[in-house]
Amino acid sequence: MKIICIGQNYREHNREMQSAEPTEPVFFLKPDTSILIRNRPFYYPGFTEELHYEAEIVVKINKVGRHIQPKFAHTYYHEVAFGLDLTARDLQRRCKANGHPWEISKGFEGSAPISRFISLQESGFEIQNIPFSLAKNGVVVQEGNTSDMIFAVNEIIAYVSTYFTLKTGDMIFTGTPSGVGPLAIGDQLEGFIGQQKMLSMEIR
Ligand code: MG
Repeated sequence: MKIICIGQNYREHNREMQSAEPTEPVFFLKPDTSILIRNRPFYYPGFTEELHYEAEIVVKINKVGRHIQPKFAHTYYHEVAFGLDLTARDLQRRCKANGHPWEISKGFEGSAPISRFISLQESGFEIQNIPFSLAKNGVVVQEGNTSDMIFAVNEIIAYVSTYFTLKTGDMIFTGTPSGVGPLAIGDQLEGFIGQQKMLSMEIR
């Protein structure tokens, strides 16, 4: 099982990060040990002083596929979750500046909190029209809608499956909207899809 994360997929976020607009999807992987489920707390690691949240919609792959055409990509998923792509921004900045891979800043233990999954069909959401938000200590800090993605989920699946076989249970983090920011010990986080609270966790 692998976790594929799309970067730079929302224009306003690219503006805040001063990243150029990508011409193809940008992606990286997190190991399965980064997954944090059941609203477990996240323990602030000693190797960063700038832990950031990135709220994202997560798509779960439900069958094996390779070289998937965009028009068939919708048959490879039927559930989504709310996820956080926790990022050690200081380490990421250093990796980027040195032209190094940035796994240490993105793939560390517990860096992928994920809510339960909900069925698109049962919840009534269209994949490219899902509103989601993140509240920190009761204040909304990120609000997004998958309609604002630069690369739609079906294009992402087509692109990624050109390089990697997608397997049942793989998860795709689809990118974060603007409003990313720092976390501190004691912060309470709540993630929403629409009005539904999906995730509730603490930074310890
Ligand atoms: Mg991200």
